[in-house]
Amino acid sequence: MGIFDTIRDNVTARQVAEYYGLQVNRNGMACCPFHNDRHPSMKLDKRFHCFGCQADGDAVDYVGRLLGLGAKEAACKIAYDFHLDFDIWKKESKQERYARIRHEKEKEHEQNVRRAYAEELRQFRLKLTGFFHTLHNWEFEYSPTKEQWDTEVIDERYTIAINYKDRLEDYMDILDFGEDDEIYELYKHREEIISKYEREITKAEQRTIG
Ligand SMILES: [Zn+2]
Repeated sequence: MGIFDTIRDNVTARQVAEYYGLQVNRNGMACCPFHNDRHPSMKLDKRFHCFGCQADGDAVDYVGRLLGLGAKEAACKIAYDFHLDFDIWKKESKQERYARIRHEKEKEHEQNVRRAYAEELRQFRLKLTGFFHTLHNWEFEYSPTKEQWDTEVIDERYTIAINYKDRLEDYMDILDFGEDDEIYELYKHREEIISKYEREITKAEQRTIG
């Protein structure tokens, strides 16, 4: 469908006249902008007609004449100002329009949810990596000497590292290589997991200071 058909099917002369500033009364009459009109002598509906100066035409004619544009330019201006679809050139019913907008909104919402989920997973993975580095360092730095083994005076940080590192590696494996369901299951517990590790690491740090 061409631009002129699209406009004819979607926009009336009255709509464009009002859009570009003409006061139209309840009877669809207005003072004609094309001659010096003191009493409303222009009738506007799908088309316009002036009983004074005989100006007459459709929406495109009205805009062309009002703004001094050629038919094609006037049509493009209307299509732009009335948000007519340039690509499809088809008439969209109100229901279709609402359905399309709703669909677009839902899609956008879904994308936002997916993006937020991916970002939270990324943050979660970063936290786990941080814990892992801490524990990994502790495992080597506070690895007991032979004397410490013998006397069983073992730095608590070493114990924590040994006890918690493997589990952390499992979590990171799931996040990196797991099935969607497994990842989601882990994701649901991310806050508990993070606070557990934070708690254990902070406790071990505080107890071993000094
Ligand atoms: Zn007139």
